[in-house]
Amino acid sequence: APVEATNSQDSSGGESSTPEDKDLPASEKSLLQKLLRTKLVQSSKQLEIIQKDPTSPLFSATSFEDLPLRPELKKGVYAMGFNAPSRIQESALPILLSEPPQNLIAQSQSGTGKTAAFVLAMLSRVNPELNYPQVLCLSPTYELAIQTGKVVEQMGKFCPEIKVRFAIRQETVPHGTKLTEHVIIGTPGKVTDWAFRTRCFDLGKIAVFCLDEADVMIATQGYHDQSIKIHRSLKNCQKMLFSATYDIDVMRFAEKLIPDATVMRLKREEESLDNIKQYYIECQSPEDKYQAIATIYGFITVGGAMIFCQTRRTATWLATKLVKDGHSVALLHGELDVSQRIDVLNRFRGSHEKILITTNVMARGIDVEQVTLVVNYDLPTDVNHQADCETYLHRIGRTGRFGKMGIAINLVDGPKTIDVLSKIRDHFGKPIHKLNIDDVTELE
Ligand code: ADP
Repeated sequence: APVEATNSQDSSGGESSTPEDKDLPASEKSLLQKLLRTKLVQSSKQLEIIQKDPTSPLFSATSFEDLPLRPELKKGVYAMGFNAPSRIQESALPILLSEPPQNLIAQSQSGTGKTAAFVLAMLSRVNPELNYPQVLCLSPTYELAIQTGKVVEQMGKFCPEIKVRFAIRQETVPHGTKLTEHVIIGTPGKVTDWAFRTRCFDLGKIAVFCLDEADVMIATQGYHDQSIKIHRSLKNCQKMLFSATYDIDVMRFAEKLIPDATVMRLKREEESLDNIKQYYIECQSPEDKYQAIATIYGFITVGGAMIFCQTRRTATWLATKLVKDGHSVALLHGELDVSQRIDVLNRFRGSHEKILITTNVMARGIDVEQVTLVVNYDLPTDVNHQADCETYLHRIGRTGRFGKMGIAINLVDGPKTIDVLSKIRDHFGKPIHKLNIDDVTELE
């Protein structure tokens, strides 16, 4: 019997198809992005550079050997598997490592190597013989500070004498104590507290000030002003500011903070469906849809897959059922708190689970490039049940010509969803091939 179109969302037992989890705070997006990223995002775009002092020569380092780095730091870089500087690093590192030090404002999308660049610069400026904080890095959240700390740890692996202190919630300094660590990574709130109230370190002695995720920073209440206050107490200090997005507010904030900086911008690669093979599977019932997923599961090798559901309820239902049937899957939706999300993503990244089931929480503003298979368990639709082409592109689109081939499989059940799929196909003008569930093996 033909499937009633109105039942097409019914796999979890009569829920409404209201989209949920649409928008996350900027800081969480940024964090999810970092956690999902395991590889450098290559870029084919030209780097735009605006120099405040046109007399100082610009230098592009195509190899880490071209840079004035201590051998132990170079060793750390190579141990992380870096062979050559990324596009942004080629131009940023010579500025960051220059003598005398120069200030920098740099913007490029997440994953292009900003963190690695400033961590390298921070570490290379530390004098381990001076036992006080010389480097200060501001991060907008606890979790992002920890992530930066991990990069410091990896890159500084062969510089055990360099010590790091986190200025984040739960960290305390006994009264009257002076910090002896060389690097402070913290949130503006805690850093303000330590610098102005506890006075456990001297901002005037900071030689390198780094403001990470400036876009997220100014989106966070209070951090804008605290960053400026901290910045005002710096003396004779190299300043660097990084942002993943380029908008007028961020750039205004950046230039107010560091008016004499060289400004660097790498435009983002457009998402495209060019290197994606798109398929659809026609299902007769919710059981069929489930069966399709279970079959697909059997053919996924390493690399992982993401399955998108329209609602949290469907996602939860699908995950629970797959787990009950002995499959190992991860579930991510907007109701999890930050630490639960980190947990889920780390497990997925570590290939403990090869499937990540999620809602639109993961689709918007988050790049999932290393995932090679995306399944739309539910096609993306807007509040009026119309095809949401933009979300479709976000879910399966990859950036640039460097992206690996990807596969997208759409499950349709009934005329309504077939109609949505045709709209999506017509919108992008790219074929979506029919796939029989028995032919899933052909995808390999
Ligand atoms: P961003 O701060 O712009 O988000 P990251 O510095 O976190 O980017 O880099 C993104 C990913 O690319 C990380 O996994 C990092 O280890 C890796 N990476 C950074 N620079 C290089 C490089 N020069 N070569 C190879 N991988 C790199």
